[in-house]
Amino acid sequence: MSLEQLRDKLNEINHELLKLLSERAALVQEIGQLKEKQGVPKFDPVREKDMLEELVAANTGPFHNDTVKQLFKQIFQASLHLQEDQHKKQLLVSRKNQKEDTIVSIGDVQVGAGSPIMIAGPCSVESLEQVREVAAALKQAGMTVMRGGAFKPRTSPYDFQGLGIEGLKILKQVSEEFGLKTISEIVHPAHIELAADYIDVIQIGARNMQNFELLKAAGDSNLPILLKRGLAATIDEFIHAAEYIVSRGNKQVMLIERGIRTYEKATRNTLDISAVPILKQETHLPVLVDVTHSTGRKDILAPCAKAALAAGADGVMVEVHPNPAVALSDAAQQLNIEEFGRFLSSVRESGLFK
Ligand code: PEP
Ligand code: MN
Repeated sequence: MSLEQLRDKLNEINHELLKLLSERAALVQEIGQLKEKQGVPKFDPVREKDMLEELVAANTGPFHNDTVKQLFKQIFQASLHLQEDQHKKQLLVSRKNQKEDTIVSIGDVQVGAGSPIMIAGPCSVESLEQVREVAAALKQAGMTVMRGGAFKPRTSPYDFQGLGIEGLKILKQVSEEFGLKTISEIVHPAHIELAADYIDVIQIGARNMQNFELLKAAGDSNLPILLKRGLAATIDEFIHAAEYIVSRGNKQVMLIERGIRTYEKATRNTLDISAVPILKQETHLPVLVDVTHSTGRKDILAPCAKAALAAGADGVMVEVHPNPAVALSDAAQQLNIEEFGRFLSSVRESGLFK
């Protein structure tokens, strides 16, 4: 055969191989769907090993056994990716499933519609006076949404645990007085329904990101949910936690990056800024950044808030207390009202926030 003829033959084989690979891929997708239904893991190392051994036994050359193994491993890997992609597409929170951004409505405040929001307020609700003082300052600064913890999940059982329902009542009273929307953390599934009587958004805290019963209860609520990333949660785990809520029917979910545990000690946690564009790309949910808990440092809040907004965040959360020195939680990292004013001016000057 001439070189030309040999090349033609090779082209033909390439096409046959491609056809066979595509047929194989279609089968793999079918298997993936069956496994999904049965809840069986996609990756089956024993089956992969058996297939490789069978192929090596059938190999008559000229490729070396190791080369045959290498080639087929590539095919197996690509097949696994195909199954995983399919799984991602099936997630309700996935961008592949819904192209348009989800807009979360907190009354007339829209999150994810293009104008970033600022959520500010004390770490804990401590008294009516304390919350009123912050609310007045926030209102004057043009803020629309206030945060305040009534149920505080603390590392030590001896630390202030929050005022509980009393705290929610304070938030309600102050929000009515100042016309602010409120966000507060709920830690028990039994309190999810009751929350609707007092607050506008339910926060699920970092420590509860994988409290699946709480997520399910949040999914049954009519209130918007602000879901915090777990202390050591991967982005994939974060996305699946949100899926728990959305799969129960509550589509009003916002994600908030609040720093993750790393070996770095210069900050309380490490702000994973890359999570913002990744979450925006992978999901259609609004993505926010909590600069206070991620850094634990007042001196870098403004640049971190700007970085978050520049990376595409739909909002920023920051803690503000009338007198941080005597705060019952997070005393070191809360801004006082004057500091908040400076923080806000600096973020506004960047043009990233109105
Ligand atoms: C909070 O926002 O009040 C809080 C406790 O934060 P995190 O759950 O992110 O630690
Ligand atoms: Mn705090």
